[in-house]
Amino acid sequence: MNKEILFLEPVFKQMIWGGNKLRTDFGYDIPGDNTGECWAISSHPNGDCIVSEGAYKGMHLSELWNKHRELFGNAEGDRFPLLIKIIDAKQDLSIQVHPDDEYAKVHENGSLGKTECWYVLDCEENTSIVIGHNAKDKQELEAMIHGERWGEFIREVPVHKGDFFQINPGCLHAIKGGTLILETQQNSDITYRVYDYDRLQNGKPRELHVRQSIDIIKVPFEAYEGERRVVREENIIIEKLVDCNYYAVDKIDVFGKAVMEQNHKFVNVSVIDGNGSINGIKIYKGRHFTIPAEYGIIELDGKMSFIASYI
Ligand code: ZN
Repeated sequence: MNKEILFLEPVFKQMIWGGNKLRTDFGYDIPGDNTGECWAISSHPNGDCIVSEGAYKGMHLSELWNKHRELFGNAEGDRFPLLIKIIDAKQDLSIQVHPDDEYAKVHENGSLGKTECWYVLDCEENTSIVIGHNAKDKQELEAMIHGERWGEFIREVPVHKGDFFQINPGCLHAIKGGTLILETQQNSDITYRVYDYDRLQNGKPRELHVRQSIDIIKVPFEAYEGERRVVREENIIIEKLVDCNYYAVDKIDVFGKAVMEQNHKFVNVSVIDGNGSINGIKIYKGRHFTIPAEYGIIELDGKMSFIASYI
């Protein structure tokens, strides 16, 4: 088994709400000035990342998952379980909700549901984010949605750089314009749009999924009360952002030489700031990679920040 770090080529997606920060902030060669998403670590058929160097150069992440499961600690499942994105919202994203595994399996052709979480990389002043709603029961929820009482219905909270949000299935949510986010999610692309601000794409409104949304939105809304736990070791601070059924996510800050051990099935890493090296290999902001199973000791050097995820 070849235990080398799997560096991945991101896939970019243009979106009606996207901007150009993936170029101006991250230095990527993006396809246009409305690039909304960078699929950084993904094996999803809508954006399957390619390994950019080493023994597996040119192979898709999905192919590695299928043919070299040992790299992922022989983890179970018919697909790589996570999807890591950077999202540049120049404008507001639609108000949406995702199903859980059970609902998606029945209604979406065996797809996985979607639990996701957001680490706010940056945002403009006075930006907010939509998390939850104000309906007290299912009846009021339906009345508010059918009556298009959006101002009353939608719950908005202020957002700041470094904030973290866990979005469980059934939680109404939307990223608003002026926000740059790193998203860690289950490997699924199932989104139900409740409201899209009556916007047009190529002259037509995007499809809404009002019935499915009403089916799955949890009423009343309950805020996620996770705790951010901090672990300090020499030249490194590890902040545990979440540990749920589908993933654990850490924010890691490195200041000089630091040592970690890879003792998970695999670890996805996104460099979100600074630069340095990992076991002598140069890394810098915007690099994304997966550290395979049984990799062992990781030697870091530099001043840099990561978001890391594992199962
Ligand atoms: Zn979402």
